[in-house]
Amino acid sequence: MTSLIATSRLSRRYPIGDIDIDALVDISLCVEQGEALAIMGPSGSGKSTLLNVLGCLDPPSSGSYMLDGTDVSGLSMSQMAALRRHLFGFVFQNFNLLARATSFENIELPLIYAGGWSRAARRERVMQLLELVGLDDRAHHLPSQLSGGQQQRVAIARALANKPKIIMADEPTGALDTAVSQTIMTMLQEINASGVTLLLVTHDPAVASAMRRIVTLTDGRVISDASSAVGQVGAAQ
Ligand code: ADP
Repeated sequence: MTSLIATSRLSRRYPIGDIDIDALVDISLCVEQGEALAIMGPSGSGKSTLLNVLGCLDPPSSGSYMLDGTDVSGLSMSQMAALRRHLFGFVFQNFNLLARATSFENIELPLIYAGGWSRAARRERVMQLLELVGLDDRAHHLPSQLSGGQQQRVAIARALANKPKIIMADEPTGALDTAVSQTIMTMLQEINASGVTLLLVTHDPAVASAMRRIVTLTDGRVISDASSAVGQVGAAQ
C-alpha cells in the first residue's frame, strides 16, 4: 500500500543574506491514512516548516515528496494550491477566522472557493458542520462574539468543509486554557477516529500524548519517531 505521505531526504533551506538556514534536513517520513501524528521539538527546530512543506504551503528545496500518489516536487505553485485545497484542512493557533464574517460564512468560504456547490447544498453542509462541532446555535455570531474554544471549533468545521483526507493543526490549543484544550483535542481525536489523518504541531507534551505517534525534531532533523498505545480514542471506546 502506498503511504498517504512519503518523504525521502526532504530539506528546506532559507537563504538569508550570505548564510543559509537549514530549517529541515533530510527528513524521511511516511504517514499512513488514518494516523494521528504529533510533531514536537524546541522552538526553531523546524516544526512549522515541516507542516508547511507537507501541507504544500512551502516548496521543499530538495528531496522527494509523494503525497497521495502525486510527486509534489514536480508541481507548480498553482498545482500545489489545487492539491492543498483538495487534500488538506488547516487549523491554526489563533484560529484565523475572518473577523467580519459569521461562523456560517467562515465555514462556507472554502465551499465557495472549491466551487460546484449550489447555495442550498452549501447551506446544508455548513449546518451539518456547525452541528458536528456543537455550534448550530452560533451560526450567525461573529468571531468576536465567541469564546476562544468556540472560535477554534468554527475553525475546525471550516477545515473539514471540503472533506479533507488530512487535517494539519499548528499549535491548535496554544491559545486556549487546559479545560478547553481538552475539548478541542477530543474533537480532533474523534475526527481522526472517523478516518481523517491528523498531523499536529505542539510543544505541549500533554497534547502530544493524545496522539498515537510522536515525531521529535531538533535543528531540522528527526531525532525520534515513536508510536504509543495511548491516545487511541477509538481503542478506548
Ligand atoms: P518551529 O516551528 O519549530 O519553531 P520553524 O519551522 O518556524 O521552527 O523554524 C525553523 C528554522 O527556520 C528557524 O531557524 C527559523 O528562523 C527558520 N525559518 C523559518 N521560516 C523561515 C523563513 N520564511 N525565512 C527564513 N528563515 C525561516
